[in-house]
Amino acid sequence: MSFENLGLSPNILRALAEQGYDTPTPIQEAAIPLVLEGRDLLAGAQTGTGKTAAFTLPLLQRLFADAAPVSGKRRPRVLILTPTRELAAQIHENVRAYAKHLRVFATTIFGGVGMQPQIDALRRGVDILIATPGRLIDHLERRTVDVSGIEILVLDEADRMLDMGFLPQMKRVLNALPRQNRQTLLFSATFADQIKALAREFMRDPAEVQIAARNSVVATVTHRVHPVDAAKKRDLLLELLSRDSRRQTLVFGRTKHGADKLVKFLDQHGLRTAAIHGNKSQNARTRALADFKNGKITVLVATDIAARGIDIDQLPLVINFDLPMVAEDYVHRIGRTGRAGAEGLAVSLVSHDEARLLRDIRRLLKQDIAIENIIGFEPSSPLRLDGNGGGQPKQNQAARKPNHARRPHAQAPKGQHPKPHAAANKQRNWRGGRDARKA
Ligand code: AMP
Repeated sequence: MSFENLGLSPNILRALAEQGYDTPTPIQEAAIPLVLEGRDLLAGAQTGTGKTAAFTLPLLQRLFADAAPVSGKRRPRVLILTPTRELAAQIHENVRAYAKHLRVFATTIFGGVGMQPQIDALRRGVDILIATPGRLIDHLERRTVDVSGIEILVLDEADRMLDMGFLPQMKRVLNALPRQNRQTLLFSATFADQIKALAREFMRDPAEVQIAARNSVVATVTHRVHPVDAAKKRDLLLELLSRDSRRQTLVFGRTKHGADKLVKFLDQHGLRTAAIHGNKSQNARTRALADFKNGKITVLVATDIAARGIDIDQLPLVINFDLPMVAEDYVHRIGRTGRAGAEGLAVSLVSHDEARLLRDIRRLLKQDIAIENIIGFEPSSPLRLDGNGGGQPKQNQAARKPNHARRPHAQAPKGQHPKPHAAANKQRNWRGGRDARKA
Protein backbone atom coordinates (compact mmCIF):
# COMPACT_ATOMS: atom_id res chain seq x y z
CA MET A 1 0.00 0.00 0.00
CA SER A 2 1.25 3.46 -0.84
CA PHE A 3 -0.12 6.93 -0.16
CA GLU A 4 -0.93 7.27 -3.89
CA ASN A 5 -3.37 4.36 -3.59
CA LEU A 6 -5.20 6.03 -0.75
CA GLY A 7 -6.56 8.75 -3.00
CA LEU A 8 -4.55 11.75 -1.85
CA SER A 9 -3.85 14.66 -4.21
CA PRO A 10 -0.41 15.38 -5.65
CA ASN A 11 0.00 18.51 -3.52
CA ILE A 12 -0.40 16.39 -0.38
CA LEU A 13 1.73 13.53 -1.72
CA ARG A 14 4.50 16.01 -2.41
CA ALA A 15 4.45 17.19 1.20
CA LEU A 16 4.56 13.60 2.44
CA ALA A 17 7.52 12.81 0.22
CA GLU A 18 9.29 15.85 1.66
CA GLN A 19 8.59 14.50 5.15
CA GLY A 20 10.22 11.24 4.10
CA TYR A 21 7.04 9.16 4.48
CA ASP A 22 6.80 6.45 1.87
CA THR A 23 4.38 3.92 3.36
CA PRO A 24 1.22 4.59 5.35
CA THR A 25 1.17 3.20 8.88
CA PRO A 26 -1.62 0.68 9.68
CA ILE A 27 -3.85 3.32 11.26
CA GLN A 28 -3.39 5.55 8.23
CA GLU A 29 -4.20 2.71 5.87
CA ALA A 30 -7.36 1.89 7.78
CA ALA A 31 -8.61 5.38 8.64
CA ILE A 32 -7.87 7.46 5.55
CA PRO A 33 -10.34 5.75 3.16
CA LEU A 34 -13.13 5.86 5.77
CA VAL A 35 -12.60 9.56 6.47
CA LEU A 36 -12.46 10.30 2.74
CA GLU A 37 -15.85 8.59 2.39
CA GLY A 38 -17.20 11.04 4.93
CA ARG A 39 -17.77 8.47 7.67
CA ASP A 40 -17.60 9.26 11.36
CA LEU A 41 -14.76 7.31 12.88
CA LEU A 42 -13.88 5.77 16.22
CA ALA A 43 -10.21 4.95 16.06
CA GLY A 44 -8.24 3.04 18.64
CA ALA A 45 -4.68 4.18 18.25
CA GLN A 46 -2.16 5.68 20.57
CA THR A 47 0.61 8.18 20.14
CA GLY A 48 3.39 6.82 17.98
CA THR A 49 1.16 5.00 15.51
CA GLY A 50 0.96 7.88 13.04
CA LYS A 51 -2.53 8.82 14.16
CA THR A 52 -2.09 12.55 13.61
CA ALA A 53 -1.53 12.03 9.89
CA ALA A 54 -4.35 9.47 9.90
CA PHE A 55 -6.86 12.23 10.59
CA THR A 56 -5.03 15.25 9.15
CA LEU A 57 -4.33 13.89 5.67
CA PRO A 58 -7.90 12.92 4.77
CA LEU A 59 -9.39 16.07 6.24
CA LEU A 60 -6.98 18.17 4.20
CA GLN A 61 -7.95 16.13 1.16
CA ARG A 62 -11.69 16.46 1.75
CA LEU A 63 -11.85 20.14 2.47
CA PHE A 64 -8.83 21.82 0.99
CA ALA A 65 -6.92 19.84 -1.62
CA ASP A 66 -9.08 20.68 -4.59
CA ALA A 67 -10.86 23.70 -3.16
CA ALA A 68 -11.33 26.96 -5.00
CA PRO A 69 -9.54 29.94 -3.43
CA VAL A 70 -11.54 31.44 -0.58
CA SER A 71 -13.00 34.85 -1.19
CA GLY A 72 -13.74 36.91 1.87
CA LYS A 73 -12.89 36.04 5.42
CA ARG A 74 -12.14 32.47 6.35
CA ARG A 75 -13.90 30.86 9.24
CA PRO A 76 -12.85 27.60 10.83
CA ARG A 77 -14.06 24.48 9.05
CA VAL A 78 -12.06 22.02 11.13
CA LEU A 79 -11.74 21.81 14.89
CA ILE A 80 -9.16 19.51 16.44
CA LEU A 81 -9.63 19.19 20.18
CA THR A 82 -6.68 17.81 22.09
CA PRO A 83 -5.79 17.53 25.79
CA THR A 84 -2.54 19.47 26.14
CA ARG A 85 -0.78 22.49 24.79
CA GLU A 86 2.19 20.41 23.71
CA LEU A 87 0.00 18.13 21.71
CA ALA A 88 -1.79 21.10 20.15
CA ALA A 89 1.55 22.61 19.14
CA GLN A 90 2.67 19.31 17.67
CA ILE A 91 -0.50 18.78 15.69
CA HIS A 92 -0.10 22.31 14.38
CA GLU A 93 3.42 21.48 13.28
CA ASN A 94 2.17 18.38 11.46
CA VAL A 95 -0.73 20.21 9.83
CA ARG A 96 1.70 22.84 8.60
CA ALA A 97 3.99 20.19 7.14
CA TYR A 98 1.26 18.18 5.42
CA ALA A 99 -0.52 21.31 4.11
CA LYS A 100 2.67 22.92 2.93
CA HIS A 101 1.51 23.01 -0.70
CA LEU A 102 -2.11 23.92 0.03
CA ARG A 103 -3.60 27.27 0.94
CA VAL A 104 -4.68 26.40 4.43
CA PHE A 105 -4.45 28.50 7.55
CA ALA A 106 -4.30 26.83 10.93
CA THR A 107 -3.93 28.23 14.41
CA THR A 108 -3.69 26.93 17.96
CA ILE A 109 -5.79 27.96 20.93
CA PHE A 110 -4.48 26.89 24.32
CA GLY A 111 -4.19 28.21 27.84
CA GLY A 112 -1.15 29.55 29.66
CA VAL A 113 -0.45 32.20 27.04
CA GLY A 114 -2.13 35.51 26.27
CA MET A 115 -5.60 35.62 24.73
CA GLN A 116 -4.95 38.57 22.45
CA PRO A 117 -2.65 36.95 19.88
CA GLN A 118 -5.21 34.15 19.58
CA ILE A 119 -8.04 36.64 19.14
CA ASP A 120 -6.01 38.43 16.48
CA ALA A 121 -5.33 35.18 14.61
CA LEU A 122 -8.99 34.21 14.74
CA ARG A 123 -9.99 37.64 13.50
CA ARG A 124 -7.64 37.36 10.54
CA GLY A 125 -9.42 34.14 9.58
CA VAL A 126 -8.38 30.48 9.83
CA ASP A 127 -9.44 27.19 8.31
CA ILE A 128 -8.24 24.79 10.98
CA LEU A 129 -8.44 25.36 14.69
CA ILE A 130 -6.39 23.20 17.03
CA ALA A 131 -7.51 23.76 20.60
CA THR A 132 -7.43 22.54 24.17
CA PRO A 133 -10.91 22.43 25.72
CA GLY A 134 -10.55 25.01 28.51
CA ARG A 135 -9.22 27.85 26.40
CA LEU A 136 -11.65 27.14 23.60
CA ILE A 137 -14.50 27.58 26.09
CA ASP A 138 -12.98 30.94 27.13
CA HIS A 139 -13.12 32.05 23.51
CA LEU A 140 -16.65 30.73 23.06
CA GLU A 141 -17.78 32.67 26.12
CA ARG A 142 -16.18 35.86 24.89
CA ARG A 143 -17.54 35.20 21.42
CA THR A 144 -14.09 35.59 19.97
CA VAL A 145 -14.38 32.34 18.06
CA ASP A 146 -17.04 31.30 15.57
CA VAL A 147 -17.55 27.56 15.41
CA SER A 148 -20.74 27.62 13.38
CA GLY A 149 -18.88 26.62 10.23
CA ILE A 150 -17.16 23.52 11.59
CA GLU A 151 -17.51 20.61 9.18
CA ILE A 152 -15.00 18.19 10.68
CA LEU A 153 -14.37 17.71 14.38
CA VAL A 154 -11.45 15.63 15.64
CA LEU A 155 -11.33 14.53 19.27
CA ASP A 156 -7.72 13.57 19.72
CA GLU A 157 -6.63 11.47 22.71
CA ALA A 158 -10.21 11.46 23.93
CA ASP A 159 -9.38 9.15 26.82
CA ARG A 160 -6.80 11.55 28.10
CA MET A 161 -9.17 14.48 27.86
CA LEU A 162 -11.56 12.51 30.06
CA ASP A 163 -8.74 11.59 32.47
CA MET A 164 -7.97 15.26 32.81
CA GLY A 165 -11.57 16.04 33.70
CA PHE A 166 -12.49 17.74 30.44
CA LEU A 167 -15.78 15.90 29.89
CA PRO A 168 -18.00 18.92 30.72
CA GLN A 169 -15.94 21.16 28.44
CA MET A 170 -15.99 18.59 25.65
CA LYS A 171 -19.75 18.37 25.88
CA ARG A 172 -20.10 22.12 25.85
CA VAL A 173 -17.99 22.36 22.74
CA LEU A 174 -19.87 19.52 21.06
CA ASN A 175 -23.15 21.22 21.81
CA ALA A 176 -21.89 24.49 20.34
CA LEU A 177 -21.02 22.90 16.99
CA PRO A 178 -23.31 22.41 14.02
CA ARG A 179 -24.85 18.93 14.13
CA GLN A 180 -25.96 18.61 10.56
CA ASN A 181 -23.41 17.26 8.14
CA ARG A 182 -20.64 17.37 10.67
CA GLN A 183 -18.07 14.61 10.46
CA THR A 184 -16.63 13.51 13.79
CA LEU A 185 -13.40 11.58 14.24
CA LEU A 186 -12.56 10.30 17.69
CA PHE A 187 -9.10 8.97 18.45
CA SER A 188 -8.35 7.27 21.73
CA ALA A 189 -5.90 4.71 23.09
CA THR A 190 -8.62 3.12 25.21
CA PHE A 191 -12.41 2.92 25.02
CA ALA A 192 -13.84 3.29 28.48
CA ASP A 193 -17.62 3.38 28.80
CA GLN A 194 -17.65 7.17 28.97
CA ILE A 195 -16.04 7.36 25.55
CA LYS A 196 -18.51 4.95 24.08
CA ALA A 197 -21.33 7.02 25.58
CA LEU A 198 -19.86 10.17 24.08
CA ALA A 199 -19.67 8.47 20.71
CA ARG A 200 -23.28 7.31 20.92
CA GLU A 201 -24.45 10.78 21.79
CA PHE A 202 -22.47 12.81 19.31
CA MET A 203 -21.52 10.59 16.39
CA ARG A 204 -23.41 9.18 13.42
CA ASP A 205 -22.96 5.47 12.89
CA PRO A 206 -19.20 5.62 13.34
CA ALA A 207 -16.91 3.16 11.60
CA GLU A 208 -14.50 1.58 14.04
CA VAL A 209 -10.86 0.82 13.55
CA GLN A 210 -8.61 -0.59 16.18
CA ILE A 211 -4.97 -0.73 15.38
CA ALA A 212 -2.96 -1.83 18.30
CA ALA A 213 -4.71 -4.18 20.67
CA ARG A 214 -6.00 -2.37 23.69
CA ASN A 215 -3.11 -0.94 25.64
CA SER A 216 -0.62 -2.87 23.61
CA VAL A 217 2.76 -1.27 23.28
CA VAL A 218 5.04 -0.77 20.39
CA ALA A 219 6.64 -4.12 19.61
CA THR A 220 10.06 -2.64 19.08
CA VAL A 221 10.39 -1.51 22.70
CA THR A 222 12.44 -3.56 25.15
CA HIS A 223 11.36 -3.26 28.78
CA ARG A 224 13.81 -3.57 31.63
CA VAL A 225 13.47 -3.14 35.37
CA HIS A 226 16.30 -2.38 37.75
CA PRO A 227 15.32 -3.06 41.36
CA VAL A 228 16.85 -0.49 43.69
CA ASP A 229 16.29 1.01 47.13
CA ALA A 230 14.44 4.30 46.93
CA ALA A 231 17.34 6.12 48.56
CA LYS A 232 19.74 5.00 45.83
CA LYS A 233 17.57 5.77 42.85
CA ARG A 234 19.18 9.08 42.06
CA ASP A 235 22.65 7.60 41.99
CA LEU A 236 21.52 4.72 39.84
CA LEU A 237 19.91 7.14 37.42
CA LEU A 238 23.15 9.07 37.22
CA GLU A 239 25.06 5.85 36.63
CA LEU A 240 22.76 4.83 33.79
CA LEU A 241 22.78 8.25 32.17
CA SER A 242 26.54 8.41 32.42
CA ARG A 243 27.00 5.24 30.39
CA ASP A 244 26.09 7.07 27.24
CA SER A 245 25.81 10.71 27.85
CA ARG A 246 25.05 11.58 24.26
CA ARG A 247 21.89 9.57 24.23
CA GLN A 248 18.74 11.68 24.35
CA THR A 249 16.82 10.38 27.34
CA LEU A 250 13.36 11.17 28.60
CA VAL A 251 13.08 10.60 32.34
CA PHE A 252 9.68 10.34 34.00
CA GLY A 253 9.00 11.43 37.55
CA ARG A 254 5.74 11.33 39.38
CA THR A 255 5.65 14.79 40.89
CA LYS A 256 6.56 18.27 39.76
CA HIS A 257 8.64 18.86 42.86
CA GLY A 258 10.45 15.54 42.38
CA ALA A 259 11.15 16.42 38.75
CA ASP A 260 12.64 19.78 39.76
CA LYS A 261 14.84 18.15 42.40
CA LEU A 262 16.06 15.60 39.90
CA VAL A 263 16.96 18.28 37.37
CA LYS A 264 18.96 20.10 40.01
CA PHE A 265 20.79 16.93 40.99
CA LEU A 266 21.63 15.90 37.42
CA ASP A 267 22.62 19.42 36.55
CA GLN A 268 25.02 19.49 39.48
CA HIS A 269 26.63 16.38 38.05
CA GLY A 270 27.18 17.90 34.68
CA LEU A 271 24.20 16.58 32.77
CA ARG A 272 22.39 19.05 30.62
CA THR A 273 18.88 18.64 31.90
CA ALA A 274 15.54 20.44 31.93
CA ALA A 275 12.13 19.68 33.35
CA ILE A 276 8.76 19.90 31.72
CA HIS A 277 5.72 19.91 33.98
CA GLY A 278 2.52 21.73 34.79
CA ASN A 279 4.10 24.43 36.96
CA LYS A 280 6.38 25.58 34.17
CA SER A 281 5.27 28.43 32.00
CA GLN A 282 4.33 27.64 28.46
CA ASN A 283 7.47 29.41 27.27
CA ALA A 284 9.69 27.37 29.56
CA ARG A 285 8.09 24.14 28.37
CA THR A 286 8.41 25.06 24.73
CA ARG A 287 12.04 26.04 25.24
CA ALA A 288 12.85 22.82 27.11
CA LEU A 289 11.29 20.72 24.38
CA ALA A 290 13.09 22.64 21.64
CA ASP A 291 16.43 22.35 23.49
CA PHE A 292 15.87 18.64 23.88
CA LYS A 293 14.97 18.18 20.25
CA ASN A 294 18.00 20.06 19.00
CA GLY A 295 20.38 18.34 21.38
CA LYS A 296 21.24 21.30 23.61
CA ILE A 297 20.05 19.25 26.53
CA THR A 298 20.28 15.48 26.60
CA VAL A 299 17.97 14.71 29.50
CA LEU A 300 14.39 15.87 29.77
CA VAL A 301 12.60 15.14 33.05
CA ALA A 302 8.84 15.08 32.65
CA THR A 303 5.68 14.37 34.58
CA ASP A 304 2.93 12.33 32.95
CA ILE A 305 0.50 15.04 32.05
CA ALA A 306 3.12 17.41 30.69
CA ALA A 307 4.68 14.71 28.57
CA ARG A 308 1.47 13.43 27.13
CA GLY A 309 1.87 13.21 23.40
CA ILE A 310 5.32 14.77 23.20
CA ASP A 311 6.52 13.96 19.74
CA ILE A 312 10.20 13.28 19.60
CA ASP A 313 11.39 11.21 16.72
CA GLN A 314 13.25 8.02 17.49
CA LEU A 315 13.88 8.58 21.14
CA PRO A 316 16.09 5.64 22.05
CA LEU A 317 15.61 5.59 25.80
CA VAL A 318 12.87 6.33 28.30
CA ILE A 319 13.67 5.94 32.00
CA ASN A 320 10.93 5.70 34.59
CA PHE A 321 12.52 7.17 37.68
CA ASP A 322 9.22 6.49 39.40
CA LEU A 323 6.63 4.09 38.12
CA PRO A 324 3.36 5.78 37.26
CA MET A 325 0.48 5.37 39.70
CA VAL A 326 -1.74 4.12 36.90
CA ALA A 327 -0.49 1.29 34.72
CA GLU A 328 -1.97 2.83 31.55
CA ASP A 329 0.40 5.76 31.99
CA TYR A 330 3.31 3.38 31.54
CA VAL A 331 2.03 2.67 28.06
CA HIS A 332 1.71 6.37 27.33
CA ARG A 333 5.19 7.04 28.67
CA ILE A 334 6.95 4.47 26.62
CA GLY A 335 4.92 5.44 23.57
CA ARG A 336 7.68 7.97 23.13
CA THR A 337 10.29 5.42 22.23
CA GLY A 338 10.42 2.73 19.57
CA ARG A 339 8.29 4.73 17.19
CA ALA A 340 7.81 4.08 13.52
CA GLY A 341 9.95 0.97 13.63
CA ALA A 342 12.89 2.43 15.59
CA GLU A 343 14.24 0.33 18.45
CA GLY A 344 13.55 1.66 21.90
CA LEU A 345 14.41 0.83 25.46
CA ALA A 346 12.15 1.50 28.45
CA VAL A 347 14.00 1.25 31.75
CA SER A 348 12.25 1.45 35.12
CA LEU A 349 13.91 1.99 38.48
CA VAL A 350 11.69 0.15 40.90
CA SER A 351 11.83 0.29 44.68
CA HIS A 352 9.97 -1.93 47.15
CA ASP A 353 7.01 0.32 47.55
CA GLU A 354 6.43 0.17 43.79
CA ALA A 355 6.22 -3.63 43.47
CA ARG A 356 2.43 -3.51 43.23
CA LEU A 357 2.58 -0.93 40.45
CA LEU A 358 5.03 -3.11 38.57
CA ARG A 359 2.70 -6.09 38.89
CA ASP A 360 -0.14 -3.98 37.44
CA ILE A 361 2.03 -2.95 34.52
CA ARG A 362 3.04 -6.51 33.78
CA ARG A 363 -0.58 -7.55 33.84
CA LEU A 364 -1.54 -4.76 31.46
CA LEU A 365 1.31 -5.44 29.05
CA LYS A 366 0.62 -9.16 29.24
CA GLN A 367 4.30 -9.76 29.10
CA ASP A 368 7.22 -10.23 31.41
CA ILE A 369 9.71 -7.53 31.91
CA ALA A 370 13.37 -8.39 32.29
CA ILE A 371 14.48 -7.71 35.85
CA GLU A 372 18.13 -6.94 36.22
CA ASN A 373 20.11 -5.93 39.26
CA ILE A 374 22.85 -3.44 38.66
CA ILE A 375 25.93 -4.30 40.65
CA GLY A 376 26.40 -1.81 43.42
CA PHE A 377 22.73 -0.87 43.41
CA GLU A 378 21.11 -4.15 44.45
CA PRO A 379 18.16 -3.54 46.75
CA SER A 380 18.50 -4.52 50.40
CA SER A 381 15.89 -7.26 49.82
CA PRO A 382 14.44 -8.63 46.57
CA LEU A 383 11.39 -7.10 44.94
CA ARG A 384 8.30 -9.10 45.82
CA LEU A 385 6.71 -10.02 42.55
CA ASP A 386 4.28 -12.84 42.97
CA GLY A 387 2.89 -14.77 40.06
CA ASN A 388 4.57 -15.51 36.79
CA GLY A 389 7.72 -14.08 35.51
CA GLY A 390 8.99 -12.49 38.70
CA GLY A 391 11.89 -14.89 38.80
CA GLN A 392 15.26 -14.12 40.15
CA PRO A 393 16.76 -11.02 38.72
CA LYS A 394 19.67 -11.48 36.38
CA GLN A 395 22.91 -9.90 37.33
CA ASN A 396 23.89 -7.34 34.77
CA GLN A 397 27.32 -8.53 33.77
CA ALA A 398 28.04 -5.42 31.81
CA ALA A 399 27.40 -3.31 34.82
CA ARG A 400 30.42 -2.18 36.69
CA LYS A 401 30.65 -1.01 40.21
CA PRO A 402 29.42 2.52 40.45
CA ASN A 403 32.60 4.16 39.52
CA HIS A 404 32.59 7.77 40.35
CA ALA A 405 35.53 8.47 38.13
CA ARG A 406 33.37 7.42 35.20
CA ARG A 407 30.83 10.01 36.01
CA PRO A 408 31.19 13.14 34.06
CA HIS A 409 32.74 15.92 36.00
CA ALA A 410 32.57 13.89 39.16
CA GLN A 411 35.55 15.90 40.23
CA ALA A 412 33.51 19.05 40.28
CA PRO A 413 32.37 19.82 43.78
CA LYS A 414 28.68 19.31 44.35
CA GLY A 415 26.63 22.20 43.17
CA GLN A 416 29.25 23.42 40.76
CA HIS A 417 28.73 23.20 37.06
CA PRO A 418 31.33 21.46 35.01
CA LYS A 419 33.84 23.77 33.45
CA PRO A 420 33.67 24.05 29.71
CA HIS A 421 37.44 23.72 29.41
CA ALA A 422 37.27 19.98 30.11
CA ALA A 423 39.03 17.81 27.56
CA ALA A 424 37.58 18.21 24.11
CA ASN A 425 36.39 14.63 24.00
CA LYS A 426 34.59 14.93 27.22
CA GLN A 427 32.98 18.08 26.07
CA ARG A 428 31.84 16.35 22.93
CA ASN A 429 30.33 13.58 25.02
CA TRP A 430 28.41 16.00 27.06
CA ARG A 431 27.08 18.07 24.32
CA GLY A 432 25.95 15.47 21.86
CA GLY A 433 23.87 16.27 18.81
CA ARG A 434 24.42 19.50 16.99
CA ASP A 435 26.53 21.13 19.64
CA ALA A 436 29.02 18.32 19.38
CA ARG A 437 29.78 19.30 15.86
CA LYS A 438 30.27 22.88 16.87
CA ALA A 439 32.53 21.93 19.77
P1 AMP B 1 1.82 10.25 15.91
O1 AMP B 1 1.29 8.89 16.29
O2 AMP B 1 0.83 11.01 15.09
O3 AMP B 1 2.27 11.00 17.12
O4 AMP B 1 3.07 10.04 14.96
C1 AMP B 1 4.27 9.46 15.39
C2 AMP B 1 5.44 9.81 14.50
O5 AMP B 1 5.42 9.07 13.30
C3 AMP B 1 5.52 11.27 14.09
O6 AMP B 1 6.85 11.69 14.31
C4 AMP B 1 5.20 11.27 12.62
O7 AMP B 1 5.88 12.32 11.96
C5 AMP B 1 5.68 9.92 12.17
N1 AMP B 1 4.91 9.35 11.05
C6 AMP B 1 3.58 9.40 10.88
N2 AMP B 1 3.21 8.76 9.76
C7 AMP B 1 4.33 8.26 9.20
C8 AMP B 1 4.61 7.48 8.02
N3 AMP B 1 3.63 7.06 7.21
N4 AMP B 1 5.88 7.18 7.76
C9 AMP B 1 6.87 7.59 8.59
N5 AMP B 1 6.68 8.31 9.72
C10 AMP B 1 5.43 8.65 10.03
